[in-house]
Amino acid sequence: MKVSIHGGHSGDFCLHAKDHLEDMVQAYIEKGFQWVGITEHIPPPNDALRYQDEIAAGLDHEYLKQQFTRYMTTARSLQKKYQDDIQLFIGFESEAYSGYIPHVKSLIHQYQPDYIVGSVHHVNDINFDDSPACYEKAIKSAGGIIPLYKRYFEIQYEMIQQLSPKVIGHFDVIRLYDPLYRKHLEIPEISQRIHRNLSLIRSKELILDFNLRSLLKGADEPYVSGSILKVAQAMGISVVPGDDSHSLDTVGLNIDTGNRLLQNAGINVQWQKPV
Ligand SMILES: [Zn+2]
Ligand SMILES: [Zn+2]
Repeated sequence: MKVSIHGGHSGDFCLHAKDHLEDMVQAYIEKGFQWVGITEHIPPPNDALRYQDEIAAGLDHEYLKQQFTRYMTTARSLQKKYQDDIQLFIGFESEAYSGYIPHVKSLIHQYQPDYIVGSVHHVNDINFDDSPACYEKAIKSAGGIIPLYKRYFEIQYEMIQQLSPKVIGHFDVIRLYDPLYRKHLEIPEISQRIHRNLSLIRSKELILDFNLRSLLKGADEPYVSGSILKVAQAMGISVVPGDDSHSLDTVGLNIDTGNRLLQNAGINVQWQKPV
């Protein structure tokens, strides 16, 4: 059974994605997906927290807010239009930068998404997953790679406590540009934080996004890493594949690999829906 709990970033509403959302929905249907969560990025609360490409394109936060309104309206109409072919959940992917708690809460209040994906793309307001250079900048700002991991998992813990997002996006994306990540994830002060965050996820009955976009970017395993998946499985946490698609040609990419890895890890493959 094919599903994606985190996907559908499109060129209609996101500068670093491409293609039309409706074409992507049709591609999910053609590929035989039973259900998909459409979870576009949120608009920033101010101009300072825009993504690099949004700054370069001169899009201000007010424009991005209007674009997000168009996203929610379009996604809701596609949900209805294709309801006989596929079950779509309409949500969004949140952030964890300065001021995110009231910002995301007000977006939830205003747009009433089916659910949200809680992600951390910033440490000290630096968008560390944008490029290797940004990652380096984040390491410097945190005072080293180990402090960067620690800070990331602290921010994630607060985010989960404050927002209770039904889905945790790419739980260990902080490993993105770190060739030594397997070793770093085992360091006690990091692995303790990972265990603590997973326990919170378990107690709130939230879902881990098994994010396959890492494979596209050259990693040899999805987020979460194998060592974390083992702990999640033992705790009985729901883990569900997410293609994190950002274009037509990444719709459903590596989903079969994800399904197989989860099955082999002993995860319950009755994929839990986000709602
Ligand atoms: Zn994106
Ligand atoms: Zn993300």
